[in-house]
Amino acid sequence: MLVYMARYYLPQGMRYATLEERKQFYTQEFSLQKVQEWLKQHKGKAKFAAVMGRHTKIYPEKYREDAGTTIVIDDYKGLNEVQDYLVEFLPEAAYYDRNVYGSNDRKTGQELAFDLDPENITCPIHGTLADKMRRHQGLSFCKIELELVKEQALSLYEHLEAQFSSMKIVYSGRGFHIHVFDPEAYALSTKERRQIAQKVKEKGYKIDEWVTAGDMRLIRLPYSLHGLVSRIVIPVEKGELDSFKPVHDKRCLPKFLGNSATS
Ligand SMILES: [Zn+2]
Repeated sequence: MLVYMARYYLPQGMRYATLEERKQFYTQEFSLQKVQEWLKQHKGKAKFAAVMGRHTKIYPEKYREDAGTTIVIDDYKGLNEVQDYLVEFLPEAAYYDRNVYGSNDRKTGQELAFDLDPENITCPIHGTLADKMRRHQGLSFCKIELELVKEQALSLYEHLEAQFSSMKIVYSGRGFHIHVFDPEAYALSTKERRQIAQKVKEKGYKIDEWVTAGDMRLIRLPYSLHGLVSRIVIPVEKGELDSFKPVHDKRCLPKFLGNSATS
């Protein structure tokens, strides 16, 4: 426990979720209806993925061998079955595949997305990403970094508004994602995606290029549980972002935290 405390710092109230808590969340709280609503934008059958315990090392014992593996969930009849898989695997992280597939599983497009993570923020207390990596704290973050990454997300959203009209911001548990649903964005080539990522970086936004360029096609599933911080991944409207406080906001607090997180 001391080792864990020394290695990872998180904003107060954020912590790893236990297996029992993940189970409670995916059986009682996870909203298939909201997931379905979110995936309305996604043409074709969505693929999902789950990681049980890559970072937390918390996973069902019978899946020890696959604890760090990204398990693709594409063989399912309805979303109820996807939920069954999540209840079975009790993952620290759940994703969906941004690729759109046509017949014969051929990729016909990809949802464009931008990923802003707090570790990329240079913090007055914890320093640069390089400083954090040197201390093996690449996954740690603090309240200041979370606030700064939120400001970056809002600023990037406004920057992208010149080019795209249908976008959504998602609080990912650690940082923020911007999803683009304009039909033209789905049709962008890999080269065009790289150029967009490059331009955004040149503007000073510290995005994960792999996500925008499409090399990393999985993105955290909205309304799933982020098991490293015990927060629900939720879309946040642009107008409410400024006052959004993920440490306290009830919408992203799973029930298993009770009142402990808000006090
Ligand atoms: Zn910090």
